[in-house]
Formats: sequence, structure tokens, C-alpha cells
Amino acid sequence: MAAYKDLSKEELLKEKKVLTKKFDQIKAQNLHLDMSRGKPSAAQLDLAMGMMDVLNSTSNLKCKAGVDCRNYGVLDGIPEAQELLADMTEVPANQIIIYGNSSLNIMFDTVARSMTHGVMGSTPWCKLDKVKFLCPVPGYDRHFAITEYFGIEMVNIPMTPDGPDMDMVEEYVNNDESVKGIWCVPKYSNPQGITYSDETVRRFARLKPAAEDFRIYWDNAYGIHHLYEDKQDHLIEILMECKKEGNPDMVYKFCSTSKVSFPGSGVAAIAASPANLEDIRKQMRIQTIGHDKLNQLRHVRFFKDIHGMVSHMKKHAEIMRPKFEAVLNVLDKELGDLEIGSWIRPRGGYFISFDALPGCAKAIVAKAKEAGLVMTEAGATYPYGKDPQDSNIRIAPSYPTPEELAIASEIFVLSVKLVSIDKILESK
Ligand code: PMP
Repeated sequence: MAAYKDLSKEELLKEKKVLTKKFDQIKAQNLHLDMSRGKPSAAQLDLAMGMMDVLNSTSNLKCKAGVDCRNYGVLDGIPEAQELLADMTEVPANQIIIYGNSSLNIMFDTVARSMTHGVMGSTPWCKLDKVKFLCPVPGYDRHFAITEYFGIEMVNIPMTPDGPDMDMVEEYVNNDESVKGIWCVPKYSNPQGITYSDETVRRFARLKPAAEDFRIYWDNAYGIHHLYEDKQDHLIEILMECKKEGNPDMVYKFCSTSKVSFPGSGVAAIAASPANLEDIRKQMRIQTIGHDKLNQLRHVRFFKDIHGMVSHMKKHAEIMRPKFEAVLNVLDKELGDLEIGSWIRPRGGYFISFDALPGCAKAIVAKAKEAGLVMTEAGATYPYGKDPQDSNIRIAPSYPTPEELAIASEIFVLSVKLVSIDKILESK
């Protein structure tokens, strides 16, 4: 079919009639489908059930350091967990601290500490008139929620196929002292699945921040979450790159096993320069006597090493790949020629990002809901929930079964078509 914008009013109305009939038939089925959050499916969680068996009442529960994991001690995390997560996020094991079950929690703590106590001796942000964070958009809603919670002003930075618009990033960071941070999901980004190019990472490392306490919040949440064995993105390691450029303290790197083992019951970590880690420990010593070492041990005994983790992720990919392809194939087939939306084919991560005609995203999400399909709220991928174009929609294909996805994708494309027709009709 020709692009919708090239159809006459009569042709559009005719198409609308056919689509409305199909939509109403699906609506009558009273479905309950959810493509809103990037949760692994039960089949993926089943892959890690062996973790329930690696520790039992007869297990040796001492870690490599000789410490009994049932008791207090080892604030930085057990050495074998440091090794495993360091390998996962490509840093030296002495540059990582293992926390609890959530990297988001570490990010929250990191911003909170900077607000109340400052960064490595600098003025606490709460004493400053203005604190700004750069937010590559579209981005991760929970990042934006943290900075909003602390009253930090958020500045939109458009994403490009190579990562954030680095001209804008350099302009802000190198000249505006109130810019204290930037949220980055550098590999298989949430929601676009974009991996920052080598040049983007190098430009990050070469930044000359106006603020001495500026930090890059490098959330490497999807570092090993490939969909394909033969088509994988590669990301330059940022800590080493910053060190080479004489900026060793400019970055905090976050990671977790949430979407490797169990979300909410995984292991999370922060990697940073020795000076940053010492600053972090000052708070952590007050905050806790130690994180859950039995969970750390369980992870190490189950995965053994990074090779175990990588082969485990291949099993995740086997489950995820057909789901991504199911959605992408429907988008290609149903919307390919209509010029009413665009999307990116990611090689990893958890999301597909869809850009509708400007002014249509909210209406599409509402339309899909009418037929029982819950999508991430339109606007969520922007700070303050405000997408200036009302265009971006995040699709999360991981949780539904393949059968559910087939029908969910159908509802989605029908909703896109119907809303777009109305939009185009407005201007005819
Ligand atoms: N960062 C990103 C980019 C994510 O997409 C998610 C999970 N959806 C998280 C962090 C949350 O990670 P955790 O479970 O370790 O808090």
C-alpha cells in the first residue's frame, strides 16, 4: 500500500473502516496483554533455577577470602563476586564494589550522597542554587525519576544512531558548571537499543568539565545482553578510556545481574577509580555492615566465571530473539511502506523504540489499551514524562509468550494505523 499521506480523504476513510472492524473484533475478545515493562519471562527465569541448588545446608559457605558468608564482613563484596562482575563489566576486580540486589538503588544512593555530602570533597549539591543533569532522550524513565525526585533540572540531549549528540554534551559539560552529571545507557540503550560508537565514547573520555564534580553515570545494564551470536555490538570500556585521557575520576559505571539471573534478587555493583571508590566507601561504611554475601556466593557457584555467564546469556538470547523478531516482522510487514512510524532493529537489550507521527504517541497507547494491550505510558522515555513531539513509544517484547506477542503486535499496528489516519485526515 502507498504511504498514508499520499492517499485521498476517501481512500483513508475506506481504510479506516476496514481497520476499525478488525480492531473491534479483537477488542471483543477482552484480552489482557502487557508490553509495558522490560521484565524477563518465566522461561528466562527458569534458566537460573539451578542457583537454588548450589547452596544447601551442607555447603561450604566460606568465600575465597576465608570469610564465613553467613556472617558480617567483607564490605566490598566477596573477591570471587568482584571478579565475576568485574569481568562482566570489563574492569579490574580491584575497581569494583559489590552492593545489594539493585543497580538502580546504587544510582539513587550516588545521587543522594552527592546532594548531601558532595563528590570527593566538593560542595554538596543541595547547597547550590542550581544542579543540572543531561538526559539523552529517549531514555530510561527510572533514571529521570531519580533526578526529578531530588529536584535536579533535567536537560534533554537528543540521541543519534551513535549515542547522545556529543556536540551538545560538550557544549553543556565544558561550559556550564551547574551540569553535574549525565545519564547514559551506553550499550543496547533503553529504549532504542543503540550502542555508543567508539568516537562517542572517546569524546566522553575527552570532556573537560567546567564542574570538578561532574560525573558520567554509565549504566551498563545491558553489557552482555546480545540477541545474536554473529551480530553483536562492541562498546569501548569507559573507565580505561577516561584514565588514558587524564580524567580517571569522571565516571561511575553501574551494572547488575538483574536480567542475567533474577530481577530484584540479583547482584549489583559500581565500578570507578580508586579515589571515587574511597569516597563511596565513606558512606557505605555508615550505611551497612555488609551486603548479602550468600547471594553473591550463590551467583559465583552457579555461573562459575564469565564464560559460564556468557553461555547462560546465549540461552536468554534463544528465548528473546524470536520475540523481538516477531514484533519487528509485524512492524516491517504492516507499517513498512506507510510512512507513519519508524523504529530501530536492536541487536541486544530489552526494548524496541517506536517513533510515531508527531502528536500521536499518547493516542496510540490509549487506543491499544482499549483493546486490552498495556504499553509503557507515552512520554515515559522523556524527563518529566514530557515528550515534546508526543512521538516515542517503548515496546517491551520480553514478557509475553510468543502467541501473546503475535496478537499484541497486531493490536499495536492497528492502533498506530487508526490514530495516524485520524491525524492525517485532520490536515486534509
Ligand atoms: N538500568 C537500566 C537501563 C534498566 O533498564 C534497568 C531495568 N529495567 C535497570 C537499570 C534496573 O536495574 P536493577 O534491577 O539492577 O536495579
